[in-house]
Amino acid sequence: PIYMDYSATTPIDPRVADKMIPYLREQFGNPASRSHMYGWTAEKAVEEARGHVAALVNADPREIIWTSGATESNNLAIKGAAQFYKTKGKHIITVKTEHKSVLDTVRELERIGFEATYLEPQDNGLITVEQLAAAVRPDTILVSVMLVNNEIGVIQPIDEIGVFCRSKGIIFHCDAAQATGKVVIDLQKTKVDLMTFTAHKTYGPKGVGALYVCRKPRVRLEAQMHGGGHERGLRSGTLPTHQIVGMGEAFRIAKEEMDSEIGRIQALRDRLAKGLQEIEEVYINGDMDHRVPHNLNVSFNYVEGESLIMAIKDIAVSSGSACTSASLEPSYVLRALGRSDELAHSSIRFTIGRFSTEEDIDFAVNLLKSKVHKLRDLSPLWDM
Ligand code: PLP
Repeated sequence: PIYMDYSATTPIDPRVADKMIPYLREQFGNPASRSHMYGWTAEKAVEEARGHVAALVNADPREIIWTSGATESNNLAIKGAAQFYKTKGKHIITVKTEHKSVLDTVRELERIGFEATYLEPQDNGLITVEQLAAAVRPDTILVSVMLVNNEIGVIQPIDEIGVFCRSKGIIFHCDAAQATGKVVIDLQKTKVDLMTFTAHKTYGPKGVGALYVCRKPRVRLEAQMHGGGHERGLRSGTLPTHQIVGMGEAFRIAKEEMDSEIGRIQALRDRLAKGLQEIEEVYINGDMDHRVPHNLNVSFNYVEGESLIMAIKDIAVSSGSACTSASLEPSYVLRALGRSDELAHSSIRFTIGRFSTEEDIDFAVNLLKSKVHKLRDLSPLWDM
């Protein structure tokens, strides 16, 4: 099948894989081994990678903490900040359309005595600073708002949110798992305290990520993983050198190629949108202006979601009805945008990237055109 599920995970860039191999073979040392060449070599590679990750987002390498991925970074940021600052207050604000690794972490904190407000996005998927300001309480300690949404690709106004949070002395965490290499992130300008990254959405390997922890002003966290005191005591555990090298190379390439890549991907996405809009009763989900060019999320009215997914097995896409693992619930993100159950169920997320081609797009458009017509001809609700 043609791969159009880049937001689930990206293919690993062959240049990234090549860079990793030596660290799986001869350079196997533990970066924490300070007494010999094996350790020094591994440590040097880890620090070089840290530099690449920091460079992509204009941060200081000392602000980058390695983790196992965005899920862990979100847990460390939210639990770590809430626990450290709990004497200042107990209130956390996030958004209904965040990734589960944020929502379930906040739920867990509620279970142990914190309080949370879940902002309702507008129909276009975006929140406003005014909404945030209205939800703030004197005891609000933490705000968590993602940069790019994984289902609809919309870009939240984190510059404004950052300015607002800093003016109130509230910690601002941002999940940027879906943003690296897609939007410019400049942490010298944007006032974020904690930012989550992962390698496998940006052509790197799975199982490695990072958390940016701001030094100026200094943000403190309670560690969630205790042990050897790695990563300045914030995340113990032997560093997976090969994974980290992969993430570094992936982010280095992202920085270098982002500008040229984005125009090409935008053109492909527009071609896809134009093609699909030739089908009747299709609805695009999420704002089209504040959005990464890699994402198109479309609902096909009068088509049953499960049947559609089965009919288009020649392309690998995500569906709004089968998105989160085994659940058959319609997408909670699309529901939060005010979409009906039917439209949420019949939605397809197309996400494209570095290795997508015009032929892929044309194939997908033709497949959708023919299958949607066929399914509607069988549907008692379709009468056109
Ligand atoms: N946050 C967002 C926005 C995501 O899209 C994902 C990926 O599913 C995650 C967090 C979790 O990332 P990871 O697979 O690295 O734990």
